Amino acid sequence: MDFHISNTNIIAVDAAHGTHPFKGDILIKGSRIAHVGHPIPTPDGALKIDGRNRLVMPGLVNAHVHSWEALFKGRYDNLPLEIWMLYSYPILGAKALDPRLIYLRSMIVGLESLKNGVTCLVDDIIELPVQGMDAIDAVFDAYHDVGIRANVSGHVIDRPFVDTIPYTHEYLPAGLIAETASIKLPTVEDYLHFARAVVNKHENRADRLHYLVAPSGPQRCTKEMLKATHDFAREIKSAYHIHVLETKVQEVSGRKFYGRTLVQYLDDLGVLTDISTLAHSIWVTDDDIARMAARGSSVAHNPVSNQKLGAGIAPFRKLLDAGVNVALGSDGISSNDTSRMLDVMRVAGLLHKVTTPEYGKWPSASEIIYAATMGGARSVQLDNEIGSVEIGKRADLVLFDLDTINFTPQNDLLNHVVYCENGSSVDKVFVNGEVVVDGGVITKVNEAALLNELRERYAAFSEHHKGVEELNRRFEPYFSQIHKRCCGESSELNRYSTSQDEWLLS
Ligand SMILES: [Zn+2]
Repeated sequence: MDFHISNTNIIAVDAAHGTHPFKGDILIKGSRIAHVGHPIPTPDGALKIDGRNRLVMPGLVNAHVHSWEALFKGRYDNLPLEIWMLYSYPILGAKALDPRLIYLRSMIVGLESLKNGVTCLVDDIIELPVQGMDAIDAVFDAYHDVGIRANVSGHVIDRPFVDTIPYTHEYLPAGLIAETASIKLPTVEDYLHFARAVVNKHENRADRLHYLVAPSGPQRCTKEMLKATHDFAREIKSAYHIHVLETKVQEVSGRKFYGRTLVQYLDDLGVLTDISTLAHSIWVTDDDIARMAARGSSVAHNPVSNQKLGAGIAPFRKLLDAGVNVALGSDGISSNDTSRMLDVMRVAGLLHKVTTPEYGKWPSASEIIYAATMGGARSVQLDNEIGSVEIGKRADLVLFDLDTINFTPQNDLLNHVVYCENGSSVDKVFVNGEVVVDGGVITKVNEAALLNELRERYAAFSEHHKGVEELNRRFEPYFSQIHKRCCGESSELNRYSTSQDEWLLS
């Protein structure tokens, strides 16, 4: 069906208007936008939507999420990444999940995303103990059924666990190290064989689902894997999605393992390029940022997760000033506890204000909205298709109701979106021209029935997972020491006081 949205408020995020709001009409023909601007008569066969007191924006792009963690929503708190991972991504004892539970797990991410205005997500799946076809099928099926645009990975790790974190051989007892030797690692051939099979089965399914190439991190993959996955990403026109410098432990790992920063290491391997999206990018040096800008790389910035895990604050202004494309992500549903992008936008707008008293450098609502739309689209190589309200682009749109408390009284629309709106004004959401949320309600699946089924199935999993947590708790005292040591070694990395001092002296 075609849709004619008349006389509405538009934030297009296109070259002509940027984020400057204007009034106009929008015509959706099939999966694409056919008109934006001056009033037009409603074409025959199109459904007219009265756009008065509505705001139409490009659908939000969640540039980094892990639906694996959706079962651990609200389960953990006050743990830094390396210790939290012992429980959320257990080293030992995880057993393969029933594909139906995986389906429901991804489904709640899809439901929450759409109801909060996200039309495209990047789901980097770390499936334990190993990702099989049944498991990734279930993720694609969930996103297919709920109607969202999604990029789903094959996350891959091929270095032995104890070699991915500094000082493990110094602190971990030999018995525990021996237990980790049972973890089976894929070869480059194993990974490529699996990835090609997934691409053959799911790539461009429903005209909106894609396979994403995602080597875990430079300290977790061999250089052969880092290079082969980059070649493969080029071949299938995927982004090259990789975790880089989220924590101080990772900052130390670069120097200890490779004698340079992890960004330099990627650059030296030739895999820091225009298709590379670096998740986090917190403990980067000025030289790292210059390299990322020169190569045309993107950053997926996850300010809620980074605070939850105490990881640090990414240098948002420095990245933008250098010309690095910045996208926004929720990160996983345990390290964030939700996938709500409007929360992420609000936090991104606020967090960087406390890093410097130089208020001219604080993020604007316009920059946050750009990062949450076009920035995200660019980070997954979809900027020619989505990210703005433009003729020819996919009709991935969110309509906010401006008669809600969040938009009343109305002042600066951009500020309302970033600082007032919490998702409760989302009226309609279109993906590929299809109405997937109407009146705030999911249209393609039965939300209540799915949530009920997940609740029923979760009890047995949760009970099993308690045992897994106990098995992995044995690592915590040693990881706690490694965390403390690495934080001490990285204490010289305090860019905020440096930039603040420079400003105060100028
Ligand atoms: Zn992540």
